[in-house]
Amino acid sequence: PSSTPSVPSTKFELDRETELRLEVEGSAPVQVELVSGLAEVFGTELVKNKKYTFPPGSRAAVFTWHGCTVQLFGSPDTAYVSKDTPMLLYLNTHVALEQMRVQAEREGERGPRVLVAGPSDVGKSTLCRLLLNYAVRIGRRPAMVELDVGQGSVSVPGTVGALCVERPADVEEGFSTQAPLIYHFGSTTPGTNIKLYNKLTSRLAQVFNLRCDSNRRAAVSGCIINTCGWVKGGGYQAIIHAASAFEVDVVIVLDQERLYNDLHRDLPHFVHTILLPKSGGASERSKECRRESRDQRVREYFYGPRGSLYPHAFEVKFSEVKVYKVGAPSIPDSCLPLGMSQEDNQLKLVPVTPGRDMAHHLLSVVPLEGGLPDESIEEKNVAGFIVSTGVDIERQTLTVLSPAPRPLPKCVLLIMDIRFMDLK
Ligand code: ATP
Repeated sequence: PSSTPSVPSTKFELDRETELRLEVEGSAPVQVELVSGLAEVFGTELVKNKKYTFPPGSRAAVFTWHGCTVQLFGSPDTAYVSKDTPMLLYLNTHVALEQMRVQAEREGERGPRVLVAGPSDVGKSTLCRLLLNYAVRIGRRPAMVELDVGQGSVSVPGTVGALCVERPADVEEGFSTQAPLIYHFGSTTPGTNIKLYNKLTSRLAQVFNLRCDSNRRAAVSGCIINTCGWVKGGGYQAIIHAASAFEVDVVIVLDQERLYNDLHRDLPHFVHTILLPKSGGASERSKECRRESRDQRVREYFYGPRGSLYPHAFEVKFSEVKVYKVGAPSIPDSCLPLGMSQEDNQLKLVPVTPGRDMAHHLLSVVPLEGGLPDESIEEKNVAGFIVSTGVDIERQTLTVLSPAPRPLPKCVLLIMDIRFMDLK
């Protein structure tokens, strides 16, 4: 693209164990090239003399264990070298996890299941990526479990999922998301339906266990679980639930001593709970910035990370689709049928009549072989997503944006609270 910078701006000489931190705002991307030495971005090694592009909105760090020279193209809003990084502690954590894998291998046990928790913007996703990258670089095949429904990296927001990591993350695009396991949640915070959230967490754990039963390498490699930044009240309970559902061995708490103390107290004694500092590079993002990065994830889903995909737009008749919402709105306790609790409502499938208010909502496509949805449709893997870009009441049709051409497969659509404006 014409906006790609080509004029070199600054050269940075990095000493060993330092990192170049970048924040790209504005509208122009920035490129980075490793000129000499060795360097990595969140655990992925950079290839020498290759230019890596960081679009507006990205933050990244080029870290070197041994020293290197990097050339920057374009002008990021922030670019500075930090000597003060927690990378050695993170590496030691990886080494300890690897020792657990070696022991598991020797003793026919399963490898470490690790949960990463902490408040927002402390670098949880980044630490997960680093630990997965280091593991896969030495031949392990760990699973990445994404429980962050707001800023997840396996699929679009409003979902939880898991991925078998077979190669290091791409510096620009992250982990390859071929054949992920994805479940529909429907909103960007677990609090909107904690019962569903916990159920999906249990389901992911169950599927991961099955995989471990049939695949020794996966069992030994273990998994790294990323969680939401909501660490109080129901959010805290959800972390405890995830730790028990996955029977985790290690819980890493980033940055917050209070959360660490609480988890240390409330988790069984055989769980190793450790507190690690956050990186100074993981800085807070505004609400606006989070919304933008969520939008960006959805845009990437339809248009590809580099805008190289062409989604399809077509009409479907109201009568051709079955749309449901998971969870009925809460009603006063006094109105609940005898013997039912508020929570029972949270897993109910409520039919949604297509109408104007469906415009711009993201919908999960859950393939269905035939017949009406059974009880646990929400536990079925999502095949993909569409957006209803327009609603025509007179003609009783929806216009949808879809990664695949018409017609929609035999499916049920689960509507999300999340909306996406297709401005392309
Ligand atoms: P959330 O709870 O919102 O999911 P998080 O705790 O998972 O946040 P990350 O997404 O890992 O946090 O990190 C926040 C931001 O900081 C990201 O944009 C990430 O790229 C950036 N970041 C993390 N570590 C560094 C670093 N060392 N240097 C520069 N940027 C960094």
